[in-house]
Amino acid sequence: MRVRVIACIGLGSNLGDRLGFLHGGLDGLGALRETVVLARSDVVETDAVGLAGQGKYVNAAAVVETGLSARALLDGLLAIEGRAGRDRSKGERWGARTLDLDLLLYGDRIIAEPGLTVPHPHMHERRFVLEPLAQIAGAVVHPVLGRTVGELLRELAGEDEGMRG
Ligand code: ATP
Ligand code: CA
Ligand code: CA
Repeated sequence: MRVRVIACIGLGSNLGDRLGFLHGGLDGLGALRETVVLARSDVVETDAVGLAGQGKYVNAAAVVETGLSARALLDGLLAIEGRAGRDRSKGERWGARTLDLDLLLYGDRIIAEPGLTVPHPHMHERRFVLEPLAQIAGAVVHPVLGRTVGELLRELAGEDEGMRG
């Protein structure tokens, strides 16, 4: 059997039955083969970043243990999004969506392939990602930046308060 890996997933929704989609996404993670959900964060509500005129998001994070490869896990995330009616046909990135599932961390692996970058390249600069993730994985180390999720969140908070140059 493949080595089981601890992976962190970020979830967001800002269209339709947001909480329903978010909880459906969390349930979908648990239904992936070879995958168990170890922890789920609280749901936080956050302002949209990206294209203007969007409604607020609800965000959450989950920690899973999986026997899937990173690529197979990403494929599973995209399939869960599809079942939530996510429509990518408009092709606009950062637009409104029923459900967004991002693979934030996959153990301590660093992956840079077409269509798959891990750690997620923006996770460390997004409060809506770090805040829920820190609740359940604050001690997990970002393999590129060498800092824990909790530290990354505190550094972001410091920047917000103008404490850092
Ligand atoms: P962002 O990536 O900045 O959060 P987004 O979530 O809105 O933006 P999407 O349109 O959901 O972007 O994803 C675009 C593509 O990004 C996906 O089809 C997927 O192949 C690719 N991708 C690369 N790395 C990852 C990752 N770690 N997690 C999720 N998708 C990824
Ligand atoms: Ca995203
Ligand atoms: Ca995404």
